[in-house]
Amino acid sequence: MVKKRMAVKTKRIYLSSPHLSGYEEEYIKEAFTTNWVAPLGPNVDAFEKELAEYVGAKGAVALSSGTAGIHLALRYLGVEREDMVFCSTFTFIASVNPVLYQGGNPVFIDSEPTNWNMSPEALRKAFKWAVKNGKLPKAVVVVDLYGQSADMKPILEICREYGVPVVEDAAEALGATYKGKKCGTWGDLGVYSFNGNKIITTSGGGMLVSDNEKALEKARFWATQARDRAVWYQHSEVGFNYRMSNISAGIGRGQLKVIEDRVEARRRVFARYQDLLGDIEGISFMPEAGYGRSSRWLTVMVLDRDKVKVSPLDLIAALESYNIESRPAWKPMHLQPLFKGCSYFTAEEGISVSDELFASGICLPSGSNLTEEEQDRVVEVIRKVMEG
Ligand SMILES: *Cc1c(COP(=O)(O)O)cnc(C)c1O
Repeated sequence: MVKKRMAVKTKRIYLSSPHLSGYEEEYIKEAFTTNWVAPLGPNVDAFEKELAEYVGAKGAVALSSGTAGIHLALRYLGVEREDMVFCSTFTFIASVNPVLYQGGNPVFIDSEPTNWNMSPEALRKAFKWAVKNGKLPKAVVVVDLYGQSADMKPILEICREYGVPVVEDAAEALGATYKGKKCGTWGDLGVYSFNGNKIITTSGGGMLVSDNEKALEKARFWATQARDRAVWYQHSEVGFNYRMSNISAGIGRGQLKVIEDRVEARRRVFARYQDLLGDIEGISFMPEAGYGRSSRWLTVMVLDRDKVKVSPLDLIAALESYNIESRPAWKPMHLQPLFKGCSYFTAEEGISVSDELFASGICLPSGSNLTEEEQDRVVEVIRKVMEG
């Protein structure tokens, strides 16, 4: 086993930490000098416009979180009490919690082994089951996990066949592409997150994008307490306080300037891990599907349980003893206590791809600000543990 030799002295290496560009302060300063220290303001308007342009969407609404974006998207699509929503099972819970906010019932769809995202075959099975039961879902939430696009074409084809709209959760995939077009712009509505650990950050925030300007207008209305057009405060619908502050948006504008560099940096981190560890028997990495460019938000390594005795949890503990943060792959939603009893569909009877990914995957430090020296430290510990 690895000894705790360096544990106390060394600087902690994080999974994915904020990486400032230096441009942020300009925008924040301007907000201060013009006294726009408020929710909404010129930075918010500009950030929306700049992000929509970058991804190639007609418009965008800046929000307090990505979760808020998914919530407003589902609300726009009419998800109400007892409505069904099909969701990727292999994801972070923020993709699904908003279904519960609306009182709906999530139904989970397994992953595809080649890209780890929603399996079109499993989705088809879920639709057939829904038709047989006489009730279609109100929406499908498709996730682009770890910065890689889902196979959107077949997924969209199936959803259109049944007339069901798609929310694309691209929280982890800003800057990634599918067939040359940006992730997050394939669904009817798309969502990005600017949480501190994402590819760019506003310290906390999100963005809803769409070509449907009516949907964006409605989302903007709900996100500002659903205030009717009147001089006094008048409300006819339930609203939320979901808008982004003008300070946060200033950070976002400074971050968006360097998004392409950040994607390149994370892809370099991935390639270097693959170079330095790929020769070890039983180690592999999340595949990159040929249909697009992943942002490699996180590098995920897979340990073949038939070939190596070390489990992801052993490795995580060893890395932790060297002050290095790592995590298991996302625990699938159909395995969460919160979703006990929810329906779950796999492509093949009795074979759950996401269960296997959860049991064998480990997320390595992947920040765009990770230095080669730091990465070498991570690699060294992994080599020691793997080579006994
Ligand atoms: C981070 C994340 C979200 C939610 O974003 P917040 O801004 O933290 O609310 C949603 N889905 C996925 C897959 C995420 O990783």
